[in-house]
Amino acid sequence: MPLLVVGSVALDSVETPTDRRDDVLGGSAVYFAYAASYFTSVRLVGVVGEDWPPEHTELLQQRGIDTAGLQVVAGKKTFRWRGKYLPNMNDRETLEVHLNVFGEFDPVLPEEFTRCQFLFLANGSPVVQMKVLDQCPGARLTVADTMDLWIREQHDGLMALLKRVDGLVLNDAEAKLLTGDENLVRAGHRIREMGPRFVVIKKGEHGAMFFSEHETYVMPAYPTEDVIDPTGAGDSFAGGMMGFLAEQGNFEPKTLKEAMAYGTLVASFNVEDFSLDRMKKIERADLTRRMEEYRRMLSF
Ligand code: AMP
Repeated sequence: MPLLVVGSVALDSVETPTDRRDDVLGGSAVYFAYAASYFTSVRLVGVVGEDWPPEHTELLQQRGIDTAGLQVVAGKKTFRWRGKYLPNMNDRETLEVHLNVFGEFDPVLPEEFTRCQFLFLANGSPVVQMKVLDQCPGARLTVADTMDLWIREQHDGLMALLKRVDGLVLNDAEAKLLTGDENLVRAGHRIREMGPRFVVIKKGEHGAMFFSEHETYVMPAYPTEDVIDPTGAGDSFAGGMMGFLAEQGNFEPKTLKEAMAYGTLVASFNVEDFSLDRMKKIERADLTRRMEEYRRMLSF
């Protein structure tokens, strides 16, 4: 089933302790869409400026991603983010954010996109996320991502959104910030009480936790030696997870668990190079192989 994603489309500059890249392809919707494209057809909605290299759009199209919802605004600049990773490669500092054209993003979905049944609201303002939700009244599964910026600056908007989505994906620091609770198990359940039927808390190299009314579990990260650039790990995790759910066409507990595992594995590939460089080189068969290995690791 087609999967719709709305979120940031960016030019990122990334510094790690040993290397750096400037103005490379990034953005929450881009990482998500690319990761999900291994499983299902993806429709992307976002906005860029006139400095956007058209070859980035072509790269997405080569994976079958429908970019009819990617608006190019003349006379404006693309969203830019600059981040620096600490030596542990898990924690990072945001050095610069230039919202540019993303700051005035007011998505109007192409008619065909509004009928999507699987919807992911990637990182962006809750006000914009809500506008998208309003345009997709028939969606069967709606999942959102968020971040510290919105938790701090648009708290009420975020709380209203949480009452309307089926799932929320966020990282450990964001879960603590949203609930004021340092215990992630309690935090996960408290976020569920704010509205979503399930909550996924991502913990970087420590894996991801799942919370629903009847289930709580932890999915470990795939042990990767070559962490080159963790940017987009969370978005590619969500892309793998939602892509698998859309492919299966359901979100039963068993499917959700397998989807969490696929999300984990796509993210493990993504961190092995800058930007989308590692994902560009893999096929579904690589995910299947890593899944067999991951299953063996987890059985005892
Ligand atoms: P992740 O590493 O999965 O948390 O996502 C990193 C991506 O999020 C980068 O490609 C950034 O361009 C994007 N990003 C950073 N800050 C924001 C923001 N305020 N809104 C939307 N996207 C953002």
